Amino acid sequence: MDGSMNPELKGAADAPFYLAQSDEIEVFEAASSNNLPVLLKGPTGCGKTRFVAHMAAKLGRPLYTVACHDDLAAADLIGRYLLKGGETVWVDGPLTRAVREGAICYLDEVVEARKDVTVVLHPLTDDRRILPIDRTGEELEAAPGFMLVASYNPGYQNILKTLKPSTRQRFISVEFDFPAPNLEEKVVAEESGLDIERVKPLVRLANKLRGLKGQDLEEGVSTRLVVYAATLIAQGMNVDRAVRAAMVEPLTDDEDIKRGLFDLVTAVF
Ligand code: ADP
Repeated sequence: MDGSMNPELKGAADAPFYLAQSDEIEVFEAASSNNLPVLLKGPTGCGKTRFVAHMAAKLGRPLYTVACHDDLAAADLIGRYLLKGGETVWVDGPLTRAVREGAICYLDEVVEARKDVTVVLHPLTDDRRILPIDRTGEELEAAPGFMLVASYNPGYQNILKTLKPSTRQRFISVEFDFPAPNLEEKVVAEESGLDIERVKPLVRLANKLRGLKGQDLEEGVSTRLVVYAATLIAQGMNVDRAVRAAMVEPLTDDEDIKRGLFDLVTAVF
């Protein structure tokens, strides 16, 4: 079955590090206290998943995270009958568990999932807050505290993979982007342990590479990749090698484009 079946439960004291980009923490808190679902929009690797983990810990809620993919069906979220020791037993999926327990359910990259998933989300995202389970005949009312959070990357140029307005308009939306340079430097230094002065050129390079999005590159370099590069450097790897492994090779397989990217690297370092 997809999705972590053991929810993460962290207290506010050990909430994973998250540096706010704007007022997203306040918006999330307001949505949570008003039972509103939240949609996080933004490029991959810019901090959406970390943000949800941080907020779940801050609010003291268990968190079920499901990484959606094109084979993920409603049954993977809701549950199914399984054979156990010769008996057929019903096993809740992560969404059902979150609904019963009043937890946060985070559907990462929700547009990747099969179409039947959005049908399930509709009655959960209006004021009924119910989850009908056809297979068992149950109609679950979400426990207090249940919150649905989904993310998607509107940048993927695939017309079939956008959220339909009828789904999108059921969520409060928060837009994410790569953090501003001074914030990204702090994030990367904190995550990698590399001195902030040595992080600065990596962030400068990342922003130059992001400028190529749409021309030579499909996606700009993510904060995640900058953290990887800084981690390799903090471990003693030479800067050139680390940048190549973490910030150039993951972006493209095209040799000509790669050469162009190396020119940028040389210009920055
Ligand atoms: P997304 O879910 O948007 O694809 P993640 O939340 O997994 O991205 O972020 C990737 C990595 O970037 C995180 O593991 C973390 O190291 C770092 N990161 C990005 N933004 C932040 C932030 N604002 N605060 C803390 N860490 C961040």
